[in-house]
Amino acid sequence: MAKKQFKTESKRMLDLMINSIYTNQEIFLRELISNASDAIDKLYFKSLTDDGVQLSREDFKIEISIDKPNRLLKISDNGIGMTEEELDKNLGTIAKSGSLQFSAEHETDEHDVDIIGQFGVGFYAAFMVADHVEVLSRAYGAEQAYCWQSSGADGYTIREAEKESVGTEITLHIKESTEEADFDRYLESYSISSLVKKYSDYIRFPIQMDMEHSRPKEGSEGEYETYTEHETINSMVPLWKRNKNEITPEEYEKFYSEKFFAYDKPLRVIHQKAEGTTSYQALLYIPEKADYNYYSKNFEKGLALYSSGVKIMDKCADLLPDCFSFVKGVVDSEDLSLNISREMLQQDRQLKIIARALEKKIKKELEDMLEKERETYEKFWKSFGLQLKYALYSSFGGERDMLENLLLFTRASDSKLCTLREYRDAMPESQKYIYYAAGESAQKLALLPQSEAVRDKGYDILFLTEDVDEFLMQILHAFDEKEFRSISGGDLGLESDEEKKEKEEKTASNKELFAFMQECLAGKVSEVVLSAKLKSHPVCLTSKGAVSIEMEKVLDAMPNAQNAPKAEKVLELNGAHPVFNALAAAFSAGDTEKTKQYTELLYNQARLIEGLSVEDPVAFSNAICALMQ
Ligand code: ADP
Repeated sequence: MAKKQFKTESKRMLDLMINSIYTNQEIFLRELISNASDAIDKLYFKSLTDDGVQLSREDFKIEISIDKPNRLLKISDNGIGMTEEELDKNLGTIAKSGSLQFSAEHETDEHDVDIIGQFGVGFYAAFMVADHVEVLSRAYGAEQAYCWQSSGADGYTIREAEKESVGTEITLHIKESTEEADFDRYLESYSISSLVKKYSDYIRFPIQMDMEHSRPKEGSEGEYETYTEHETINSMVPLWKRNKNEITPEEYEKFYSEKFFAYDKPLRVIHQKAEGTTSYQALLYIPEKADYNYYSKNFEKGLALYSSGVKIMDKCADLLPDCFSFVKGVVDSEDLSLNISREMLQQDRQLKIIARALEKKIKKELEDMLEKERETYEKFWKSFGLQLKYALYSSFGGERDMLENLLLFTRASDSKLCTLREYRDAMPESQKYIYYAAGESAQKLALLPQSEAVRDKGYDILFLTEDVDEFLMQILHAFDEKEFRSISGGDLGLESDEEKKEKEEKTASNKELFAFMQECLAGKVSEVVLSAKLKSHPVCLTSKGAVSIEMEKVLDAMPNAQNAPKAEKVLELNGAHPVFNALAAAFSAGDTEKTKQYTELLYNQARLIEGLSVEDPVAFSNAICALMQ
């Protein structure tokens, strides 16, 4: 029989398994049992709409048997089974699992082994403990069974075989023990049963096995005999069905790490039992850290959906709004009409009601965390704040009520994170606007010349350091009736009437100078004006209109940036600065050359302060040298 080769990615994964770089070998059993349980879920689901299945809920089970002399461990299920094509496709390739993406994107080496653990290593885990694996399977609806066999990396074969009933039987030939690794324990019923309890207790179908026990021998004093009993090893009660007050934090955490292959600790566990028109149980987790692909388009949001303890979907996306796509968990409801297809289920009214209830619950829990566990919330914010902002932005503010109060920004006064409410409540009476500055980092923003006058008045500034921030501010427009204002925008409302008048007079008396400067900077700035924002600095660059300088930078960094809108820049001068006096003196003395040179220098300085590059660095350098000689 011709040997088939594994697909490249699978081979790499397989090598990793065979060489057991992944130290946590014992999880192989969990993986095989979870595949068996999935296969049963699929057939059970079918049985609800297809009379041909002829099995009822109680008939489904997973059997484990051990043949110690021949070193065989067998795991059988009466689930949906696999056709010849499915055996080839599913076991010759790492299907759609995360591992595939991962190994396609990275060279796997020892370093990455931890990351591999995050996906569930799947069927190939069998090769960590077995040197030969046989999969005998008969698909639902098929007469013919097939047997898939492999001894590892050199490929696999598939042949026709006999199997009486529908389902899959996986036989592992357990490796010989070595000095480093004890494989013999996988041939002991007590260690297998403890692994089942450890990793697969909540599997909702019975996992049965012959267990050896001993009892006093009848009729003879002090003698014992062993006997075997076919037993169900797992408790089958899923964690979410149990009572909250009987569950320890450790149990919640264990479920989280095993079910979702998570390496972090959840920041919050939400265990909810709802009764009423729609009853359901939900066990939700707010993770501490974002998945490695969370902020990429490969990420799939969703909650596992069960109906009366039977899994319908691994990731039901409709149960989670985008803003809370980081939540992991399980929802179980008896009220879902199962006699419809999975596609139809997504339109289900009950499902929509549950989704809405979960959304509210998650929001409430986050608000509660923000209020009572600030430090934890800030951890959460570090991982998922960006998602909340994206969601708010892409809903065009539609999610405002949902999310506005969950936002955090760094404030200038103490470099701490604050909510909009906290900022608003700390505003002095005289402050007209909520001020913000947008840029690369809080450290740089703290040094912006235009922040000085604002801070001097005792007003705080929110530092926006993420690309989406300023766009978000434009959409939100205001908070609790106070408009947002960029300190790099136009009027900041800082001046008194008297100061305004003074500025107007000075502007009028320097009208020609400003016109001349504007001519020098034609095409670069749309206006040259006296500033009300500056104190110790001579100059700054601000913008008018919808696009700010920071937004221009963000837009420029996007693909197809050629037609991106530009900021309308304004050069603002500090009329009280000696540099301004020097400029005005040069101009009134008729020294246009010098005035031009100063203008360009000031313009370029302002660009540098804004984090923009100098347009002609050589000319800039020459101009400075000329001044120094
Ligand atoms: P994953 O479970 O992440 O998809 P696996 O490598 O564990 O990856 O399994 C690959 C596929 O093989 C499964 O998705 C499933 O379709 C099929 N499969 C594995 N074990 C069984 C089984 N016992 N019965 C039916 N199909 C199975």
